[in-house]
Amino acid sequence: MIELKTPAEIERMQVAGRFVAEVLSEVGRLADVGVNLLDLERHVRGMIKRRGAESCYWDYAPSFGKGPFRNVICLSVNDAVLHGLPHEYTLRDGDVLSADLAVSIDGWAADSARTVVVGTPAEEDLRIIRATEEALEAGIEAARPGNRLGDISAAIWAVARDYGYPVNTEFGGHGIGRTMHEDLHVSNRGQAGRGLKLRPGLTLALEPWFARTTDRIVYDPDGWTIRSADGSRTAHSEHTVAITENGPLVLTRRSSTTET
Ligand code: MG
Ligand code: MG
Repeated sequence: MIELKTPAEIERMQVAGRFVAEVLSEVGRLADVGVNLLDLERHVRGMIKRRGAESCYWDYAPSFGKGPFRNVICLSVNDAVLHGLPHEYTLRDGDVLSADLAVSIDGWAADSARTVVVGTPAEEDLRIIRATEEALEAGIEAARPGNRLGDISAAIWAVARDYGYPVNTEFGGHGIGRTMHEDLHVSNRGQAGRGLKLRPGLTLALEPWFARTTDRIVYDPDGWTIRSADGSRTAHSEHTVAITENGPLVLTRRSSTTET
C-alpha cells in the first residue's frame, strides 16, 4: 500500500531528516586517515542516543541480509557500496567511504547517504562521487506532481550514461515514512513516462549508486556488505524527498554550502 503523507506528517519526517543530515555532516568531518570504522559507529550511536532517536538499522533483518543487523550506520569502503558492516578497519589515505544512515524520530523515518574521500582524492574517485550526486539531483528534480516514477529512474540513468557508468537494478530507491522501507521500488534505470503517477504526499528515498566498471555485485561473507563484482570503486548518494504541490522537498539536505 502506498500511503500519501499530509503536510504535517512531512514536517515530522523533516525533523528526522534534519538529524540524519546533521549526523552525516559529522561523519564527513570525522572520516580521516587513521580513524577506525568502529569509532565512527560508536560516535553515531552516541549521537542517536542523545537525540532520543531510533536507529532503523538496529535489529533490521531483511531477506537479503544475514540479520539481525547490530549497527546504526552502514559504512562501505572502496569497492564496497551498500550495507557495509562497520568492522575493525582503519581508514587509509585515498579511501572512498560511503556512509548510509536511517533513523526514526517520534515514529517517522528519514534515510540518506553520502560518499567522501579520506585524505588525498584520486580524480576518478571524485568523478564517480560527482556522478552519483548529479544523478541524485536529477532524480530529485524529476520528483514532482504530474511526472511518473519512470521519469525519476530515467533522469538518474541519463546521468550515469553521460558519465559512462553501468547501473545495477537490484538495489535502488524506495518508499519511506513510518518505516525505512515502504512500498515502491525506485529503480536507478528506467523509462520516462512509465510507472506510477507522482502525487503530492509521496515520500521517497532516492539513491543512485554506481560502480566504475560493472553493474554486478557480490556479497561479503559477513552476509551484509555488497561490493562491485569486479572490485572497481563505487559511490552512493541518497536523500529522502517529499513530493509536494510546489515540487520536490528534500528532507535530508545538509546545510553546509560545501555539501550537496
Ligand atoms: Mg540509505
Ligand atoms: Mg535507502
